[in-house]
Amino acid sequence: MSERVIPIISQPLGNLPIPQALKGPAWAPGQQLLDQRNRPLRDLRISVTDRCNFRCSYCMPKEIFNNDYVYLPHSALLSFEEITRTAQSFIALGVEKLRLTGGEPLLRKNLEVLIAQLAALKTLDGQDLDITLTTNGSLLARKAQALKSAGLKRVTVSLDGLDDEVFKQMNDVDFPVSDVLEGIQAAQAAGLGPIKVNMVVKRGTNEQEILPMARYFKGKGIALRFIEYMDVGATNGWRMNEVMPSADILKLLQSEMALTPLQATQAGETAERWGYLNEQGVHDLSLGEIGFISSVTKAFCSDCNRARLTTEGQLYLCLFASQGYDLKALVRSELDQSALTQAIAAIWSQRDDRYSELRVSEPASDKASTPSGAKRKVEMSYIGG
Ligand code: SAM
Ligand code: SF4
Ligand code: SF4
Repeated sequence: MSERVIPIISQPLGNLPIPQALKGPAWAPGQQLLDQRNRPLRDLRISVTDRCNFRCSYCMPKEIFNNDYVYLPHSALLSFEEITRTAQSFIALGVEKLRLTGGEPLLRKNLEVLIAQLAALKTLDGQDLDITLTTNGSLLARKAQALKSAGLKRVTVSLDGLDDEVFKQMNDVDFPVSDVLEGIQAAQAAGLGPIKVNMVVKRGTNEQEILPMARYFKGKGIALRFIEYMDVGATNGWRMNEVMPSADILKLLQSEMALTPLQATQAGETAERWGYLNEQGVHDLSLGEIGFISSVTKAFCSDCNRARLTTEGQLYLCLFASQGYDLKALVRSELDQSALTQAIAAIWSQRDDRYSELRVSEPASDKASTPSGAKRKVEMSYIGG
């Protein structure tokens, strides 16, 4: 029998104490909640499962996430009612966008039921929430219509190449490209747009797919975003020399395509967006756009307005944090809704995280690198992307 892997690798290092908002409210209804760096809370990412049917080498490497790996038991997961109740408090504090993620979110049974519950909530000014989902696309062809009917607005699909051999090297489970493309088409047909496609670029593995991906998605009404391979978690063996900086990807694209930078549409946007120029050198909206998520080479912490709720109800304030706050204990206690909201406000008001900014300010190296003094970080599959 192979050696048993204790899940400490992907599980958090204990909880942080919930700040005692109780000495006085951290926030009052109608007031703008800001963290220590004046960042509001607008976006909540909810992980609905720690399981996945892919083994992307940069996220859930096979050597660690094998048959002996112990996932969370169902009783540890937040129920749909608990997620909805928690989301209500976040919305009271200004959240307008919910993103369901994982693991692979479409593996969570009856996810449509959760989506319908969340879709019934409204933002503070009475608008529909922007509810979206990030998926590897493997189950999308089957589920797109039901997701749309339940109230999902959009999807982001991860796809790291168009060549089967390269894609299999990335997902490590021999999953074919054609099935993901079919999922994207089904999502488009169901009206889950505008669709985004995320491609993680690992130098030396899938960089040859950059141009084919751009050619394929140009003019299809789908925004392709290139993501720098990030040093999330502790299991992917990240090395700086496997990161292809966005500036290099842009240069490669510009060798073939005329691109123009686009203005950000909202504060806290993770991607820098570029549009296509037509033969007359004029921006042609019909050709769609391309985005760059440069978490390694260009930090965007200064307006990061995202909070993350893990599968078992821990609140993380940064993708690279090593500890979270145990909201599940609060949700499962006798605490009423306004006390839960105050506890989240107290946590957010003390937030000072800016991991990428600190890393960018340190010299790059070819070795695994984290800002000096940083603790071991939580896994992407646990916290959700
Ligand atoms: N399973 C779903 C998927 O792959 O879309 C959702 C969860 S996944 C953790 C969310 C996003 O994180 C995906 O777009 C994935 O490519 C990205 N991701 C995971 N590990 C990463 C890493 N080390 N660097 C950059 N992006 C990463
Ligand atoms: Fe699964 Fe998504 Fe992680 Fe790939 S990136 S292993 S699809 S959770
Ligand atoms: Fe936000 Fe943390 Fe990423 Fe900075 S490093 S953008 S604070 S999640």
